[in-house]
Formats: sequence, C-alpha cells, structure tokens
Amino acid sequence: MELFSRTAYCEKCAKEKLPDNGTLFAVIQGTGKQVVVLKVESIRRRRTPVGFTPHFVSLLKVKNGEAIVAMQCGVIGCGSVIETEYDQLGNPTYDVGTIEARRAIMTIEDWNSLVLNFRDTGYEI
Ligand SMILES: [Zn+2]
Repeated sequence: MELFSRTAYCEKCAKEKLPDNGTLFAVIQGTGKQVVVLKVESIRRRRTPVGFTPHFVSLLKVKNGEAIVAMQCGVIGCGSVIETEYDQLGNPTYDVGTIEARRAIMTIEDWNSLVLNFRDTGYEI
C-alpha cells in the first residue's frame, strides 16, 4: 500500500486551532518515500486555514467507480499512529501506522487529481 502526503481537513486539529507556529507534523518526502518530521515555522493563515493539515493518504480500493481512501492526520499528537523510536545515534525516528486512519470515498476523478496535483518540492504548509 503506497502512502503519500496531501493536505486535508482534520476536525480534531481544527478544534485545537492547528496547525500553528511550532506544530510538528510528519510527511512523506522524496522518491525514497522517507517519513520526515517538520515544524511549522511561520504560518500564513490565508494559505493554510485552521484545520488543514498534512495527511498520510493511501488508496485502499476502487469500487463502482469510486476510490476508497485511507487518510490519517500527520500532526504529531493528533491521535495519529506515529511511533517514535531512536536510531543508533539517539536521534528520534518516526514510523507510520494505518490503524486509526479514517476512510474517505471519492470519485476516481477526484482521486486522480489528488494524486497528480502536487509539486514534489519537499513540503510546504
Ligand atoms: Zn489532526
């Protein structure tokens, strides 16, 4: 199951007025599909409204012309299933689970635009 990162609405983060400056979030970056944890440094509200956060997204299946998608908020501490471990040098590393992912159903056209409509230049919030 291929995971990638896209911005989506998270109700829990919206209630917490996140993302905000200092918010830690995990995204999948680059061709190696590495999970990296980044921090919001200077938020621009007009571009990033409250509640819109990076999500891990994966396609579960296609059925009757609809895409069934698993989505999981990437904000650290938002009930996501990101576990912290430490590497040999003592630096934290992060892993992604999918246990608590919520499901969304969208049209194939919406799914395709979600996959294609992305500038892979790292990640901006
Ligand atoms: Zn969230």
